[in-house]
Amino acid sequence: MSKTWDQLEQIQPNVMKMLKNSLLKNRVAHAYIFEGGKGTGKKDAAFLFAKSIFCLHLQEYKPCHTCINCRRIDSSNHPDVHYIEPDGLSIKKEQIQHLQSEFTKTGLESNRKLYIIEQADKMTVNAANSLLKFLEEPSSGTYAVLLTEHVHKLLNTIVSRCQIISFRSLTPDDLRDKLMEQGVSQAFASLLAQLTNDLEETMRLYKDEWFGLARKLVIQLNETLATRPQQSLLLIHEKWMQHFSEKGQMELGLNMLLMLYRDLLSIQLEQEDTVVFTDRFEFLKQQALQITQKKTIRDLEAILKAKNKLNSNMNLQLLMEQLVLDLQEG
Ligand SMILES: [Zn+2]
Repeated sequence: MSKTWDQLEQIQPNVMKMLKNSLLKNRVAHAYIFEGGKGTGKKDAAFLFAKSIFCLHLQEYKPCHTCINCRRIDSSNHPDVHYIEPDGLSIKKEQIQHLQSEFTKTGLESNRKLYIIEQADKMTVNAANSLLKFLEEPSSGTYAVLLTEHVHKLLNTIVSRCQIISFRSLTPDDLRDKLMEQGVSQAFASLLAQLTNDLEETMRLYKDEWFGLARKLVIQLNETLATRPQQSLLLIHEKWMQHFSEKGQMELGLNMLLMLYRDLLSIQLEQEDTVVFTDRFEFLKQQALQITQKKTIRDLEAILKAKNKLNSNMNLQLLMEQLVLDLQEG
């Protein structure tokens, strides 16, 4: 199911407001560049915008999603709406030329035509020059939407002929919701969304067995420190160091540990809705009652200190041993 106007408005309020105004005031530009990071809704917005242009039962500016035009755009077979994406690594001149020849025929269904170019920065120089000629002589009913994550890689001459619309990066909450839509559990989605704001990177981590085990070890370290502190160093020697043997892995491990202790503090401060390790909620709640806020803050500082030492290339095992001793302190 494609996104509705209201759904996109939640993640890209400014973008949708701009598009809404241009539709309402009949000031739709002939060429747009939708630029922004991966997963920020550019493609969804482009298709929604196409529907607003072609919908037979437009409600002010919102498409109905049910008329024949809306449905044909959804299933990518509207004769006047074209979608181009890289063929292999690049968008080739032939693809742009094919588009142009399609467009010289008069509109099949109406006098309007719209094309969307995905990853427009992947156009070869020849393709970009062909497109440029096309943009220079816009016929009145033709609309272009170029999508890109790297607007600076587009030819200036193309950029100057388009209206640029910037899509904001996803907030951790947006990202968490997107991950959950893709079937990721809430506990994993919340954590992943805190670790990076790149949707693809979060999915890569999610599918990596290493990450699942890393998360388990972080939880285990916290639990051991709380219930059997004298065994914490053993855990570090027997399991932690093998799993987090590289600096990058250690950094991820410390970041997760930091979030777990931040959750503890959130519970102590009665800000329970910000908890990331949702599946550890009950345990953390017990732990929160047993230690003071002051101690939790000291623990957070100790983890931050360890993270800093990581940057100064301290021996990883020494660093973890010191951290565990700090966390054990009453
Ligand atoms: Zn419609």
